[in-house]
Amino acid sequence: MSAPTPSPVHPAAPHAPNEPAKPSNFLRHVIEADLAQGTYANRHWAGTPGDAAHHAAGMADPAKVRTRFPPEPNGYLHIGHAKSIWLNFSLAQEYGGVCHLRFDDTNPEKEEQEYVDSIRDAIEWLGYETYLADRPSAPGTLQPHEYFASNYFDFMYRAAEYLITADLAYVDEQTPEQMRLHRGDFNTPGTDSPFRARTVTENLARFRAMRDGQLEDGAAVLRAKIDMASPNINLRDPALYRIRRATHHNTGDKWCIYPMYTFAHPIEDALEQITHSICTLEFEDQRPFYDWLLDRLAEGNLIASPHPRQYEFARLNVNHVITSKRKLRQLVEESHVSGWDDPRMPTLAGLRRRGYTPEALKLFCERSGVTKSGGWIEYSSLEGSLRETLENTAHRGMAVLHPVKLVLTNWDELMGAGHLEPCSLPALPHPPEGVAPVLRHFSIGKEVWIEREDFEEVPPKGYKRLFPGNKVRLKGGYVIECTGCTKDATGAITEVLATVVPDTKSGTPGADTVKVKAAITWVGVADGAQAEVRMYDRLFLDAQPDAGGKDFIESLNPNSLKVVTAIVEPSLANAVAEQKVQFERHGYFVADKVDHAAGKPVFNLAVGLKDSWGK
Ligand code: ATP
Ligand code: MG
Repeated sequence: MSAPTPSPVHPAAPHAPNEPAKPSNFLRHVIEADLAQGTYANRHWAGTPGDAAHHAAGMADPAKVRTRFPPEPNGYLHIGHAKSIWLNFSLAQEYGGVCHLRFDDTNPEKEEQEYVDSIRDAIEWLGYETYLADRPSAPGTLQPHEYFASNYFDFMYRAAEYLITADLAYVDEQTPEQMRLHRGDFNTPGTDSPFRARTVTENLARFRAMRDGQLEDGAAVLRAKIDMASPNINLRDPALYRIRRATHHNTGDKWCIYPMYTFAHPIEDALEQITHSICTLEFEDQRPFYDWLLDRLAEGNLIASPHPRQYEFARLNVNHVITSKRKLRQLVEESHVSGWDDPRMPTLAGLRRRGYTPEALKLFCERSGVTKSGGWIEYSSLEGSLRETLENTAHRGMAVLHPVKLVLTNWDELMGAGHLEPCSLPALPHPPEGVAPVLRHFSIGKEVWIEREDFEEVPPKGYKRLFPGNKVRLKGGYVIECTGCTKDATGAITEVLATVVPDTKSGTPGADTVKVKAAITWVGVADGAQAEVRMYDRLFLDAQPDAGGKDFIESLNPNSLKVVTAIVEPSLANAVAEQKVQFERHGYFVADKVDHAAGKPVFNLAVGLKDSWGK
């Protein structure tokens, strides 16, 4: 491992006096207590991960805390991972530390480069790109911290031999079935394996035989020698290494034995000098083994002291959302969605394509809190966060989703045949302070598109929009008075007819002298553009589609996508891919990252203007 290099870290970011304090949580308390007690104050850091001797030769660790985000590259990251990313990276930044991005790639079977790439994309998109190894970091800020657990296989092997030598591990050659029987259960203590009494010499020889490919896959495992009667089943001699002939994406065919996750993970944390190893509650019962292993390795001077500590918090669960990578893969493989980045997917790639912003996700994660007991968060909370970040940033525009033509029968006579009158409206109703207001330009002529639902031949009670004899304003244009409609042979309405009320153009003097009860959105036939608009709805009808072993496929919403051909005003047609906009009255939309192009606009519904969940 390379020579020590200076490792600048984020300066601690104390809250400005007038900034509202961040909501505290138990993890902040733990870190603050460690900082106050100087738990990790005397640690060294060699600039790269390594064993005790490696770090001892390094400088005093400039990072006050080290956290890590350790995804297994066997799928795309999802909303739950965003929580873990936000938590680990923001705690590190807040307390003058660093967060390591670590690919937990110790399982040779399911990991692929595609997933590594997608995880790096997501990290970059969320704004943590300075952690990526091939990105230069700004001077005085973070150096990249991107690691691969498979680079630690040599050390893991060494740690395993150390445990054997210390009579703390043995090679068990029972069948998996015998092992299961001897493990006992919650009420019954386990019983010792007949192989438990092997000598150190014999164990070492058998472990090397495992490594050298002399035993079949599954014929033996290396187990820790702890206590087969422990009330915690995880301490009943857990497996450390298994035999598995598989080509690993990083180490190729070098190994035919691979470490178990429970053995590998604490070691990865220790080699990287992690201080606070934050994971979800399912791992609570693993903590005693985490500490047992690192205590033993520290006693043997293999890893630096004090070693990392594990802390658990409740995983993020969102109603109507599935966050198991295996189940998400099934949705992709069975073509229930168009891919990992389908805008209905809770993956970060999907949320991005749906129009979510990193700011919205961070706001959501922050609001969902960090607690010790699990719960379900409403999907509307996620949507609310997005709406909030788009409210003052997404340019407005008019789009007609279900168009019917409106003909202004007195236009030619009043304005001149073929005349197009230029109109404009602000792109943002409340532009942020210091930002010059931007206007959108469009024009009105004899024919415009309006929403089909904005005309009723016989209006229901209380209806204020177009019906014969009623006046409305075409938003940003003129007041018009409805005179009727034309129909085809089947009785379907083909055109709505109206007359322009003279001298009522929006923004001109006296425009308001004619009072109307409604303004409707519209797009000119002359300058409107056709756009494909993908109207997304929840992917699952059940709030908890996979609860209690239910088949989540059965809960798929058959109407989660409806595609309409809409007409949009010129400013919307000119949006760039991934631009977020508000279709007035309809909601927030995003120009699709993949399919939107100049001359061929494609928009995805990101979120409606109002919360429609549960209604
Ligand atoms: P799966 O079981 O679907 O494969 P995972 O949790 O095993 O998902 P990892 O790649 O191992 O996925 O997760 C990386 C990190 O993200 C872990 O530290 C894990 O605790 C965290 N994480 C995953 N899902 C959630 C969630 N829903 N809420 C909070 N953190 C999560
Ligand atoms: Mg996992």
